[in-house]
Amino acid sequence: MVSVIRKWIVDQLMFGEFASYRDVCRKSVWVALKVSLVAYGLNLCAHFLLHAFGLMPYSLGSALIIATALTPPITFVVSVAAYIAVGFAIHDLGVSRAEFEKLSRTDMLSGLANRRAFLEQFDGCEGDKAMLVIDLDRFKSVNDTYGHMTGDEVIVKVGKMLATVFNDRCLCARIGGEEFAVFCRDMPFGEFMVLGELARRKIAGMRFATKDGEFSVTVSGGLARALPHEHFGEVFSRADKALYEAKSGGRDRIVICYETGDKTGQPERGRKVA
Ligand code: GH3
Ligand code: MG
Ligand code: MG
Repeated sequence: MVSVIRKWIVDQLMFGEFASYRDVCRKSVWVALKVSLVAYGLNLCAHFLLHAFGLMPYSLGSALIIATALTPPITFVVSVAAYIAVGFAIHDLGVSRAEFEKLSRTDMLSGLANRRAFLEQFDGCEGDKAMLVIDLDRFKSVNDTYGHMTGDEVIVKVGKMLATVFNDRCLCARIGGEEFAVFCRDMPFGEFMVLGELARRKIAGMRFATKDGEFSVTVSGGLARALPHEHFGEVFSRADKALYEAKSGGRDRIVICYETGDKTGQPERGRKVA
């Protein structure tokens, strides 16, 4: 019984019947009506029993009139008040919980998904998928030259650009300091490659104005395709290898790893997107 009630409360914290104050009020009327009916029924039974055993101190007729006049309205009002008080509290807890859930999956600087959210969604995806890992080039020198605040601004704007280029069809995340990852599901690999290259170009075309002058940044990327059952770690390590090739090949490029988790032996050489 206790575990049933506990499960019900936890379910309600996920906005079962308490999605809004309005829902709580509406539901409170129904619950109060049912409670009033049950209370009224029990009250009548008690009176008939007392009468049957000769324990009624006054006439059955007067008792029934008083029970009918008082029990339903009093029970109704008390039930509505109690249900609303508890319902509002559960609603508020549900809102806090949802906000906390959202915060725990959001990168506070860029507003993109964080590593945890990315990993969960990637591992939870059973379809065809691919991953792009993007890293800002020589970002340390941006911080050293223009300051950490400007560096933060670059991270935010690059994140926004990625979200714009890849839009809702992909999940963009900031998975480390100046490192981003994008994952798409059920998108042709060729299209994902084209979007990756488009993002790289758009980022290279962005201009950042500071009191010390204007500058631009570039990114390097590693792109890897994945088999439906593959987990984040396996695919990430291939994308990261490709990213390493992009860095050592001169940066400002995206290298593709065509190897999948099925193949054994040496990975196929990464190829720079034309
Ligand atoms: P590479 O092209 O090889 O990636 O060079 P890099 O300078 O980008 O790489 P490195 O790993 O040497 O430096 C990464 C820098 O990113 C160092 C660190 O100060 C900066 N960084 C990491 N997280 C943040 C952040 O949240 N804000 C700012 N402003 N800088 C950050
Ligand atoms: Mg870097
Ligand atoms: Mg890095």
